[in-house]
Amino acid sequence: MGLGPVWRLKAPPQAPAPSGPKREASSAGWPELKARVKGCTDCKLRAGCTQTVFGVGDEQADWLLVGEAPGAEEDRLGEPFVGQAGRLLDNMLAAIGLARGDNVYIANVLKCRPPGNRNPEPDEVAKCSPHLLRQIELIRPKLIVAMGRFAAQTLLASDATIASLRGRVHRYAGVPLVVTYHPAYLLRNLPDKAKAWADLAFARRTMSGL
Ligand code: URA
Repeated sequence: MGLGPVWRLKAPPQAPAPSGPKREASSAGWPELKARVKGCTDCKLRAGCTQTVFGVGDEQADWLLVGEAPGAEEDRLGEPFVGQAGRLLDNMLAAIGLARGDNVYIANVLKCRPPGNRNPEPDEVAKCSPHLLRQIELIRPKLIVAMGRFAAQTLLASDATIASLRGRVHRYAGVPLVVTYHPAYLLRNLPDKAKAWADLAFARRTMSGL
């Protein structure tokens, strides 16, 4: 069975021009972007979540880690990766000498929690991902680590699997990008943890060589 629908950030030729809000987000500074995300009702998710989860960390970080969408704990606390998957992520960061907030920024593709933690839907990714893209423009990280297929496929405009994307340096808008498994996936698939450690070690080496 396939892995589900593929979406692309680039609009298909027949799609209408980007709407006003997307244009606003694409030139916004941090305060406007934060306000824009906080007040966003562009998709159906905002009505069902507690609050938006913008992102956290050093706004001039060299490292940007991108996940999928807030879960229950993130929705409650307003910060990405603060649940079980977040604790694993913090341990993984520590293993390569990094800590949340210290030269590291963490954000998700979606800023609102999908109900029951279901997968993001293509229209939600299309509406929400411009916020992430603007965050990347503002942070100007040296390296992006895309965690899981929604982050990787969104940033690389690809439908390739994580397995096929790992172990190479990709580029998003000229920024080197490394792909690894999502921490929540690793909690369910413990044997793949070793691969994720290898990916982060690869990311560390890549950063050292930049
Ligand atoms: N999973 C994600 O992708 N992001 C979070 O913030 C939490 C869990």
